Amino acid sequence: MMVAAAEASRCTSRATSAEDDRFAFRLDDPSFPDLLAVSRQLGLINPPDEMDQPLRHPVMMPEFLLRVLFTGTTGDKPCRHLDLVTTTAPATDVCHQCVESGDVWPALRMCLICGFVGCCDTSKHKHMKAHHDETGHPIFRSIRLEEGWIWCYEDNAFFSKRTLDRL
Ligand SMILES: [Zn+2]
Ligand SMILES: [Zn+2]
Ligand SMILES: [Zn+2]
Repeated sequence: MMVAAAEASRCTSRATSAEDDRFAFRLDDPSFPDLLAVSRQLGLINPPDEMDQPLRHPVMMPEFLLRVLFTGTTGDKPCRHLDLVTTTAPATDVCHQCVESGDVWPALRMCLICGFVGCCDTSKHKHMKAHHDETGHPIFRSIRLEEGWIWCYEDNAFFSKRTLDRL
C-alpha cells in the first residue's frame, strides 16, 4: 500500500502545486475500518495500550491522498454545512470525557458547530462520533499537531487546512 501511495504521490505532485498541500498526517485515524486494520498490520498505528504515545512510523501524506482515503475520490465533494461553522479554534487540548474515565486517546476532533472537543474514531470511546450521533452536528476538524483538515460525516466531504484558515 505504501509503495502505491508513493507512486500516486509522484504522479500527481505536479498537479498539486501549492506546498501547503502537504502536512503531517499519520495513518492512525482513517475514517473507515479496512484502512484501520491495514494500518495496524503495517505497524502504522500503536497498539491500543499505547495509543497516546508517539507513533513508531510517522507518515507524511499529501493532502490529495488523504482526501482519496476519506472520500474515495480526488474531486471536491459539496458540503451543506460549511456555512454553519461558528467556531474553529479549540478551547481545550484534551477529551474531557476520556479524562474523567482515565482513558487515553490518539487524536482529537473539534466540532465546528459548537466547539465540542472529543477523541477520534480510532479511540476506545469515539467521543466525537458519539457527539455527532447525539447532536446531529456533522462537521469537525482535526486539532492534533498542526492538522486542520475538516471532515463532514453527512456529506462524506473532506476539506484542507486552507479551507479552515478561510473560515
Ligand atoms: Zn456537510
Ligand atoms: Zn474521548
Ligand atoms: Zn457540536
